[in-house]
Amino acid sequence: MRSNAKCYVELRADLDRISIIDCHDHSEVAGPRPSDPIAAVLDWYITSDLHSTSSDDEIAFILNEKLSLEERWPVLERAWMRTCYTGYAQVIRRALNHFYGEPDLTLEALQRIRDHLIDFSDPATFESVLDEARILVRLEDIYNMPGLLDGSYTPPPRSRVVISLPSFHAVCSYDEVHDKVAPLHKNITCLDEYLGACREIFSRLKAAGAVAFKDQSAYTRPLDYGNPTRGQAEAAFNWFMEDPRRKLSYPDGNRPLGDFLFHEFMRMARDLNLPVQIHTGHMAGIRNSLPKTNVALLTPLIELHRDTRFDLFHANWPYDGDLLFLAKNYPNVTIDFCWAHMVDPLYSQELLRRIISSVPHGKVHGYGSDLNGGSMIQAWAHADLARDNIAIALADLVEMEYLNLDEARQIAADWLFNNPNQFFNLNL
Ligand SMILES: [Zn+2]
Repeated sequence: MRSNAKCYVELRADLDRISIIDCHDHSEVAGPRPSDPIAAVLDWYITSDLHSTSSDDEIAFILNEKLSLEERWPVLERAWMRTCYTGYAQVIRRALNHFYGEPDLTLEALQRIRDHLIDFSDPATFESVLDEARILVRLEDIYNMPGLLDGSYTPPPRSRVVISLPSFHAVCSYDEVHDKVAPLHKNITCLDEYLGACREIFSRLKAAGAVAFKDQSAYTRPLDYGNPTRGQAEAAFNWFMEDPRRKLSYPDGNRPLGDFLFHEFMRMARDLNLPVQIHTGHMAGIRNSLPKTNVALLTPLIELHRDTRFDLFHANWPYDGDLLFLAKNYPNVTIDFCWAHMVDPLYSQELLRRIISSVPHGKVHGYGSDLNGGSMIQAWAHADLARDNIAIALADLVEMEYLNLDEARQIAADWLFNNPNQFFNLNL
């Protein structure tokens, strides 16, 4: 993929020399050690495209590691041939070519790589890919917060941890409340004690190095957080606390409490000076409801919490206009292109061009892998694709004399490094 702009080749080469801050990833651990060539090559995203063009039974068959590669290949091949041009497939093809010297996904290619699958559970191998991609630091969405707090868990190399927020406000029962605050070994008896415990956990996580909050509740509930009163929230909280066998439904039964807690957590984020990263738009996997994820639903929250900084994810695919509006109009909103580059490369290129002409370019964070610790070949390929998208968008604007080449270079460096370095207080 390339632009026809005269400066493209030079600008693309410059981008290879720019270091990246990876603004969102899920490598909770390095690895695991791969045992199956199909699992090593297919990341969780291409699996969705393969699922979308086959069936529930066929995708389960393709991923069944108890079956031989040769048995599974005809089913995989049929699905792959129907989806091999998407952004997700681009990542797989680039990864195969770069790390295994295989230009395409074939049975013979998988047979050749089967005996020398790269083991990313080795931290040195894991880190060597980050070097190749020039990824200096990664914001890791970590679920093992108790382990972080008691020192029993160490994140992979180059991680800066991010506090996973959804389960703190999705609480529906006595047990869930106590599970969330277990590291403090406190018995919670009322809403105020729960809020105090959450604040203490978040403060300790910040002291342990956390640089942001992250919330992907849009997978399971709409982003239109209401603004219920403390009394409404307390009634729901007290109802399940006075009988540990009771459980609120989710999301509807949780809403008075969950929405109230979310607003309280936005205040804590403000007080701790930690940005809040929010999933918007398209969701991983297949068969989910898209309208509940549109960033436009967050407007009242963003307008109320003016001193809380919101980093909005995934280019709100496919609702680009709503994202441009929020980023243009609210000082506490930034755009984060994590995952977006491979969800839809052409959409990303177009949105990057439109951002230059409509949104302050200092409000963009240009890249996030959004993969797990076993998908390092795909993380390299995703970063490579992101560099293509950014170079194409900016080279096109140089070609039409909207920017000059030096300005394009500076914007690329700002998007990939300078903006997130400043925004997340990374001090790199
Ligand atoms: Zn993610």
